[in-house]
This record gives sequence, structure tokens and C-alpha cells, in this order.
Amino acid sequence: MKNKKRVALITGASRGIGRAIAIRLAKAGHKIAINYNSHKNDAIEVLNSIKNCGSDGIIVKADVSKIDEVEFMVKNVEENLGSIEILYNNAGIISDSLLMRLKIEEFDRVIDTNLKGTFYCTKFCLNNMIKNRWGRIINISSVVGLRGNVGQSNYSASKGGIHAFTKSVAKEVATRNITVNAVAPGYISTATTDVLTDKQKTTVMSWIPMQRFGDPDEVAPLATFLSTEEARYITGEIIRVDGGMAI
Ligand code: NDP
Repeated sequence: MKNKKRVALITGASRGIGRAIAIRLAKAGHKIAINYNSHKNDAIEVLNSIKNCGSDGIIVKADVSKIDEVEFMVKNVEENLGSIEILYNNAGIISDSLLMRLKIEEFDRVIDTNLKGTFYCTKFCLNNMIKNRWGRIINISSVVGLRGNVGQSNYSASKGGIHAFTKSVAKEVATRNITVNAVAPGYISTATTDVLTDKQKTTVMSWIPMQRFGDPDEVAPLATFLSTEEARYITGEIIRVDGGMAI
């Protein structure tokens, strides 16, 4: 059983944290389904990197906020690579605004992608995990799901929802050798944080005891450890990777 080669689906693996997780899992020999929504060329680049690691995979386009696309994606992966044993719910977006100015559509879009996307992917992958009596589900949330943040009521609600979802599903499936955990990053240098102005970056830096942003490769080691056989007694946890920001 020790770290058997498995099939993993990573949502939002074309860039950022998802990409770093995909490459690290490929180095461990797993077969990787790289989900993307709009950046196909980036997804192809990740697939090439995976192949260079001596592993195999496919790219799968799906908007995780659309239930039909998620159902089709899961079927497609299972037909081409086999039953999904490891699921990373990583795809996520922000659409920041103070609550008084926040449009209903922007609240819905963030909840639909981050929280409902996590629900849809988990629901469709869980069938086979339960049948096979083994599974790992790792949700990428955020420290703002624990602490809240000005201008991010929609995003923090989606990530806080993921925390409650993680704990509930962990309880439901614990007897089937399926673990469900969340990794809560702080500020990580990706396209998500590139949009911050220098002034905003300086403010954020003052909140972080390590006084720097993290790198996707500093999130991936914990995220991939949670998919291993050794991590079998860890479930329902929310683990921060944030340079001490939420201490
Ligand atoms: P990036 O913006 O670098 O990448 C986002 C990824 O999500 C892309 O691969 C994108 O695919 C995909 N994606 C976005 N919307 C959808 C959708 N509707 N359906 C499918 N895929 C989608 O993000 P990060 O790497 O920064 O973030 C990854 C996760 O980590 C997110 O959940 C984010 O909330 C979380 N996080 C990030 C932090 C940070 O500081 N960077 C901090 C805390 C949490 P494509 O480009 O192909 O559309």
C-alpha cells in the first residue's frame, strides 16, 4: 500500500499553486489529470513538465462552477486514466469589493466557483473512492476563510464554507479510508496576488511575521503529503501555510 502510484485530479492546475502540486505529484509517479478553464496552453505546458518527470496525464477543460461540465470531466478522467483516488479542489477566483459596492453577480460567481465547484468535484469523485475504500481529498482554502478580510466578504465566505464542508465530509467518509483536509495558504506569489499594488503589498507584508509572500512550491509539499498513505490518520484538518500570518 505504501505510496502506490495513483490517479489524481487537480482543478485549476494550469497555473500557480495547482501547477506546483501537479508537478510534485508527477515526481512521485502519479498519473495527473490537469483541469483548466481558460488557459489551455498553460495546461499543455504543465502536461509536458509532467511527462518530463516520467509520469503520465491528460488535460481536461471544465468550468468547475458548472455541474454538467464537472460530471463530464470526472467521467472523462476515469475513462482515460482510471478511478480518481486523489482530488485537489484548488480552482479558485477572487472578485474583491467592499460589501456596500459588491454586486450580487460577483458574490455568486465567487461562491459558485470556489465553494460550489468544490462540492461538485467532491460529489462526483466520491462514488468511486467509496467503492474502492480509499481516497484523499485536499481542498485549497485560504487564511481569510479563518480570519476574514476587508473587501473579501465573498471570497472569505467561500473559503470559510470550504472549511465547514471539509470537516463535515471528513466525518461522513472516515470509515472508508478517505481523508478530507484543507490547506489554507496565506499570500502566495501567483496571478492572484500579482494584481495587488505595491502599496497593498507593503501593507500585507506588515501582517506576515516572515515579511515575504510564499511561493507555490512552499504550499505543494504539505498539499502532496496529505495525499500519501502516511497521512492516513489526518482528517478534517485545516492547515495554514502562511509565514505565520494567522498566528
Ligand atoms: P491562479 O490565479 O494562479 O490560478 C487559478 C487556477 O484556477 C487556474 O489554473 C485557473 O484556470 C483555475 N480556475 C479559475 N476559475 C476556474 C473555473 N471556473 N474552473 C476551473 N478552473 C478555474 O491561482 P492561485 O494558484 O493563486 O490559487 C489557487 C488556489 O489557492 C485558489 O483556490 C486560491 O483561492 C487559493 N489561494 C491562493 C492564495 C494566493 O495568495 N495566491 C492565497 C490563499 C488561497 P485557467 O487559468 O485555465 O482559467
